[in-house]
Amino acid sequence: MNTTASPKAPLPVPPTDHVSERSRRARTEPMSVLALGDGLYEVESASDQTYLVDLESGRCSCPDHVFRDVRCKHVRRVAMEITEGRTPPPGTVAVSCYDCGESVFVDESAVTNRRRDGSDDVQATEPIYCDLHSIRPGDTVRDRETDARLTVVDVSNLRSDAVWIRDADCTVAEYGTNERYESATPVVGAVYPHATIKANGTVPRSLKVYTFPRTRLEREVPTPTEESDRSNE
Ligand SMILES: [Zn+2]
Ligand SMILES: [Zn+2]
Repeated sequence: MNTTASPKAPLPVPPTDHVSERSRRARTEPMSVLALGDGLYEVESASDQTYLVDLESGRCSCPDHVFRDVRCKHVRRVAMEITEGRTPPPGTVAVSCYDCGESVFVDESAVTNRRRDGSDDVQATEPIYCDLHSIRPGDTVRDRETDARLTVVDVSNLRSDAVWIRDADCTVAEYGTNERYESATPVVGAVYPHATIKANGTVPRSLKVYTFPRTRLEREVPTPTEESDRSNE
């Protein structure tokens, strides 16, 4: 018999696995991915080559795909970045949280002025917030003008220039201390937390709900323990 069966023979080298090799390179090679919208992504490779990936059809403009018809490393890289939350999935775009700048993926229909040559000019039609900075009824917020703490009771979809303040005879947007905030920003209703109902049942005047442009209020970011309580609700 020949010697290949001999225990002393070197272990055979496994045949190169092209699929796992492409997968490895997709993960480890430096590439930058830019979402262009409509499911298209621009991938710039370490060699300064730029390719266009259409994720939904799995197509890429690189030679590996065009001539060899394989699922190339660029398509794999885009899919990986989406799975890891680093690139917006098709149908969404990345915008910055109004308060902290962190990337938030929103539906393409929620933004205007989207440009095909990059995402720098993406403008949301209203301020967008990350999970940490979005507010819900019961959250504590800080008034940027007075530094006062308030408790949120309502987060509306109504614009500041469409909500009337009866006592002041003007809209929320027109109210003196709100002038520097965008009139398109939604209105939030909030109460001062000292405004508790008295033992005799009378509701103090201070329980009144005050209306603010959303951007005037900033969520008081709770400690990590409080935050995990909220997510378990
Ligand atoms: Zn490719
Ligand atoms: Zn944020």
